[in-house]
Amino acid sequence: MVHTPLIGILGGGQLGRMTALAAIRMGLRVRFLVPRPSGPAEGLGEVIVGDWKDPAVLRRFAEGCPVVTVESEWAPADVLEPVLPEGTSLWPKAETVRIIRDKGRQKRVLAEAGLPLPDFACCTTLEEALAAAERFGYPVMLKRYRGSYDGYGNFTARSPEALKTGWAQLAQEDGLLVEAWAPFVRELAVLVARSPSGEEVIYPVVYTKQEDHRCYLVQAPAAIDPAVAEEARRVARAAVEAVDGIGITAVELFELADGRILINELAPRPHNTGHYTIEGCYTSQFENHVRAVLDWPLGSPELREPVAVMVNILGRRSSDRIDLRGLPEALRVPGVAVHLYGKMQVRPGRKMGHVTATGSDPEEVRRRAETAADLIARYL
Ligand code: ATP
Ligand code: MG
Repeated sequence: MVHTPLIGILGGGQLGRMTALAAIRMGLRVRFLVPRPSGPAEGLGEVIVGDWKDPAVLRRFAEGCPVVTVESEWAPADVLEPVLPEGTSLWPKAETVRIIRDKGRQKRVLAEAGLPLPDFACCTTLEEALAAAERFGYPVMLKRYRGSYDGYGNFTARSPEALKTGWAQLAQEDGLLVEAWAPFVRELAVLVARSPSGEEVIYPVVYTKQEDHRCYLVQAPAAIDPAVAEEARRVARAAVEAVDGIGITAVELFELADGRILINELAPRPHNTGHYTIEGCYTSQFENHVRAVLDWPLGSPELREPVAVMVNILGRRSSDRIDLRGLPEALRVPGVAVHLYGKMQVRPGRKMGHVTATGSDPEEVRRRAETAADLIARYL
């Protein structure tokens, strides 16, 4: 009979996979609940495929787990919470997930905490949206409250006509969030790990480069003014406290030309901008997520080397065949770590894996990571 703790993970994508790998390394066991068969969770522990909105299925899944966590803000933490078996904790709390899941509510909570955000308005009608855009000035971002990722669900409107088009495409019963354009010079991100007993560590401020609204590259640390980095950390920490995030909470930020920091959005889980931590830091975001939800001591978020660069491997076509012809060649690039997520299908833009390189010269490190990622992605 094995008595090591069993950690339950709601969801079976790459974030669940890498969380499980960190847990397994520390001798823990993992159990996934996924709504449909998942490549990334395959072979890492017990995988329950079932209707994860069904309280009975959720309860059975959680039975025997001292802790259950989520790998996605869409995981049904709120359905699980009321039926949690005795002796099982859920971290982050369902309430944290509920706040973050709804972009309107998330903004209101952060604004009430006095945190810096682009101006925003929760608009239920097109007329309200046009009036808000008039107040903010064009361009504005239209955002669905729920269900967006990688920029799906967002629309940049540069004129009232464009706003009408975007509204017709995206608006749901409760309308859309209208957000002032943030004239950023850089996008940054900060990860915070927090445990239920209040221990907290903050990862370095990273630079994140988006292409087509999707994270493409992350460089740690961001090459920014130390005062700006300090402000980014202050804002991130306060934002995570405002939503009472437990485990890893990621904070996406905009840096403006005058050094001001605005919050873009939060994620109540490990994040793409933290994959570099696996090789780049003493304790990865995934390991600290596991330690935090178990209320175990947190590890150091410090960088092991001066620079780490992570580049995503994005799919380039649609197929059920994953062609890894480029992998051996990528592995010839010195000092890169290749991560592939075991997904069963490839689609254009889909995150299939990532590459991390570390070293001391940012340009050289970035070149290695990009070369290796491209060698793999060209066949995907
Ligand atoms: P993801 O899941 O990839 O984080 P998402 O679909 O939730 O993304 P957002 O984070 O809201 O979308 O926006 C995606 C990108 O669009 C941002 O990283 C940024 O590049 C751009 N963006 C979002 N809001 C604004 C804004 N107010 N001003 C300028 N650019 C913005
Ligand atoms: Mg985002």
